[in-house]
Amino acid sequence: MIREALGIKHGIFAVDCDITPGYLTNIEKGHKQPSPAVAVAMARRLGVDVDSITYTIPDCAECARRERSAA
Ligand SMILES: [Zn+2]
Repeated sequence: MIREALGIKHGIFAVDCDITPGYLTNIEKGHKQPSPAVAVAMARRLGVDVDSITYTIPDCAECARRERSAA
């Protein structure tokens, strides 16, 4: 993960990107897609292209289960 490679702490990064630590956790685990504005903020903070901010795991079993139970 880029953030860890740069040695940026989870809580610090969340504050820098103006998002909650819980939301950041979900993004990093691939359970949530960051909004375009959040993706831009993350990319800017990490010094990478916004296209690099793609944490989402396709076919995540946990998300699929959550969607099924919500339906
Ligand atoms: Zn998931």
